[in-house]
Amino acid sequence: MFTILFVAFLIADNLLRLVLALKHIIHIRAHRTQVPDEFAHHISLRSHQRAADYTIERTKVAIVERLVDSIFLLVLTLFGGLQALDLFWGRMIDHELLRQLLLIGSVFALSALLALPFRLWRIFSIDERFGFNKITPHLFISDSLKVLVLSLALGGPLLAAVLWVMDHAPTLWPFWAWLIWVGFSLFIMWLFPHVIAPLFNRFEPLQQASLQERIEALAKRCQFALDGLFVMDGSKRSAHANAYFTGIGKNKRIVFFDTLLNRLDEEEVEAVLAHELGHFKHNHVLRRLILNMVAALGFLLLLGWLSQQVWFYTDLGVIPQLGRPNNGLALILFFLVMPVFTFWLGPLFSLMSRKDEYQADQFAAEQSSATALISALVKLYDDNAATLTPDPAHSAFYDSHPPALLRIEHLKQYVDQNPAT
Ligand SMILES: [Zn+2]
Repeated sequence: MFTILFVAFLIADNLLRLVLALKHIIHIRAHRTQVPDEFAHHISLRSHQRAADYTIERTKVAIVERLVDSIFLLVLTLFGGLQALDLFWGRMIDHELLRQLLLIGSVFALSALLALPFRLWRIFSIDERFGFNKITPHLFISDSLKVLVLSLALGGPLLAAVLWVMDHAPTLWPFWAWLIWVGFSLFIMWLFPHVIAPLFNRFEPLQQASLQERIEALAKRCQFALDGLFVMDGSKRSAHANAYFTGIGKNKRIVFFDTLLNRLDEEEVEAVLAHELGHFKHNHVLRRLILNMVAALGFLLLLGWLSQQVWFYTDLGVIPQLGRPNNGLALILFFLVMPVFTFWLGPLFSLMSRKDEYQADQFAAEQSSATALISALVKLYDDNAATLTPDPAHSAFYDSHPPALLRIEHLKQYVDQNPAT
């Protein structure tokens, strides 16, 4: 019964993804010959077409990758791949915790191997052709090795701790696992700016005194405790521009990609930051964190129940090993299968996120300048070759940010009522 449900969801999920992707491509092609009126003065036809072609290329890769992923999922479950792996490690290893860790680790390793050609295709074929790629093969390899070491060093102990409580606290483990997960998440949030990010990039304090003053004034105006302003050498990997906040509590720092500072003037940088501050001021960041924690508890309780049901294993092509803990098996099965069902919640989260974006834009318009934010957005859309004309259904399903036209339309209503400029 669950087999049928799983296959039905998997097929429906793939069909919907395919339809959305094709609609997206057709829509972008149809609007390729003309820059939308609102952008006609700012973005050249050549740039607009470059964005269209770039988005179409990336959408095509996503279609193929999704198909390969689905086949891999079927091979692992209904075609017995996971069963074979479980039996293999069962024969090789007697230590129960290690055996389960190796089972999960080998599935992750296989997925990473499968994702590799697509990453290479995106970076060294598409991004390269469109002039975005700055990463050398040498840097790519060293990045990948660092990610591997970090995943083993951080993910390994996390997984071991979760499996240990699963094996030793048969009824209450979801709560223990949840506490471990919450602690781990907070630890990573602390670790990221201090240890993880510096492994990949160089961070230097912002040098431009005028910009620094401007941002400090903004932070003060918004009563935002700021711990530091840093510039990151994002340009060593990609020409895409960005800025972000890291840290928690009173130790929040702002990180600018050097590519962003090179491209935007000071007023525009301030407006972009004011938007990010808007996310904090409206508690979007905290709300998302809490929502994630609540969802994690829900999923763990669900897994707690599913792991006790024989059909959860047998209907997905695996026979649990008799007399040995099968928690690693339940955990990896859950990770593999759950996205097929949660995929349908995507539009809901996208909708929430787009609502937050409008609110942050409004905050930026009030605390900084709508005009500056509009011109910053236009530059960023242009530079990142983000399409200005996404398919509406595709956008509604996936996009965390409103389409460019709607976003700028919304900002325009604040242009004439600006206190700060
Ligand atoms: Zn935002």
